[in-house]
Amino acid sequence: MQYIEEVLQSVKESNPNEPEFYQAVEEVLSSINQVVEGNNEYQQQAILERLVEPERQAIFRVPWLDDNGKVQVNRGFRIEFSSTLGPYKGGLRFHPSVNQSVVKFLGFEQVLKNALTGLPLGGAKGGADFNPKGKSDNEIMRFCQSYMTELYRHIGANTDVPAGDIGVGAREIGYLFGQYKRISNQFEGVLTGKPEIMGGSSLRTEATGYGVAYFLSAMLDAKGDSLRGKRCLVSGAGNVALYLMEKLDQYDAVILSCSDSKGTLYCKDGLDVALVKHLKNEQGAELRDYLNELKDSEFTPVNQYPSDGHHVWRYEADIALPCATQNEITEKDAEALVENGCSVVCEGANMPTTADALKVFKDNDVFLGPSKAANAGGVATSQFEMAQNASMQKWRAEQVDEKLQQVMKSIFDTISATAKQYSNEHDLVLGANIAGFERVADAMLKQGVV
Ligand code: NDP
Repeated sequence: MQYIEEVLQSVKESNPNEPEFYQAVEEVLSSINQVVEGNNEYQQQAILERLVEPERQAIFRVPWLDDNGKVQVNRGFRIEFSSTLGPYKGGLRFHPSVNQSVVKFLGFEQVLKNALTGLPLGGAKGGADFNPKGKSDNEIMRFCQSYMTELYRHIGANTDVPAGDIGVGAREIGYLFGQYKRISNQFEGVLTGKPEIMGGSSLRTEATGYGVAYFLSAMLDAKGDSLRGKRCLVSGAGNVALYLMEKLDQYDAVILSCSDSKGTLYCKDGLDVALVKHLKNEQGAELRDYLNELKDSEFTPVNQYPSDGHHVWRYEADIALPCATQNEITEKDAEALVENGCSVVCEGANMPTTADALKVFKDNDVFLGPSKAANAGGVATSQFEMAQNASMQKWRAEQVDEKLQQVMKSIFDTISATAKQYSNEHDLVLGANIAGFERVADAMLKQGVV
């Protein structure tokens, strides 16, 4: 459709050197033809042009002192993409690969993901090109304090509520919250993913991974199948991967692999998930250390990840679950997965599948659960944390888990019904893009030109 082509062209021209952002926008816009064609108002009111332009972008210097007394400088970001459906909401990522393109793609995806939850949430993302690896606790604290000293003026419990992402867990959220409280003199739900002792929700740590498992279970259920005995390849060994593996284990699936930036760990009879979790969480070990504990496993190292690819996608399996980072399944990986019998993919990481790989999956009828739906359990539980903070209540873990399961099932039902209406019920990529877009676009129309 010409209107969509024109918007895509203008996104490319006005956001040069932002390949990840363009990729995310192109994937969404190229699948909403039918709804945009069916409603002239979207074009008349420039809904697409507004949707792809963040409402506000803060890019700032983050100076901090390392343990040797040397001044270090990083670049901080907070991109407030859309407040159409609620306060800006989305995580902070601390990783050397963070740049404007990465934060914008994540923010854009977050807008539609948050819309799919049906909860009152806008979309945002932020972070810094800071590498937490190898830093002392004091260095992490000083970095977080400096980052928050600028960020605090942009956020608030009803304005913008950041959470964690890669490199930002409960420790970082604790330091960020402490500094916010100090300089604003407010104890409020301005961040989610907080340690429970200071207002965090039960199960927020587990929520994204558990949510992916609940979504995957709904996908299999729709095919009249279940997770029992299914051979699963997981990538990543961080927050999302570990809790996804824990839940899959409870569903009696067989987890063959996981990975970190050093390589892939594989065990043909299935990994001891509790041991991997213990090694990572309690001992901070790397995956290759696991070999000392279990003889039947193998570790395939990688030089440069993700550019060199991961061996994880080269094994035979029924289901692939990417949970590390963006574009980690390439066209070649997708071909190998299909050849080795994989018929289901469920995305834990954000945009882990390249555009070429998506095409391979589509051409081979692989049933794919897209990240903006499958990993929305994290942000949904963040909203539960906001609700608990605002009402000064604490919900039990069982209550949170029940609500999380309801949200994931409802997201699956919504996007599957939308997919059926516009194409076929298994095209969940199309279903998620259209359902998310319609919610945001229709609210934008009601709010006038803002
Ligand atoms: P973590 O930092 O906890 O874990 C990331 C894992 O991926 C680590 O095992 C890391 O290995 C591995 N990894 C390897 N290469 C890279 C790379 N180039 N960049 C980043 N990570 C790499 O992050 P999360 O588990 O929180 O996030 C994983 C994915 O899930 C991301 O795409 C994130 O945006 C998405 N997500 C996370 C949510 C959350 O609630 N945490 C919510 C929704 C989505 P190593 O340890 O060696 O670095």
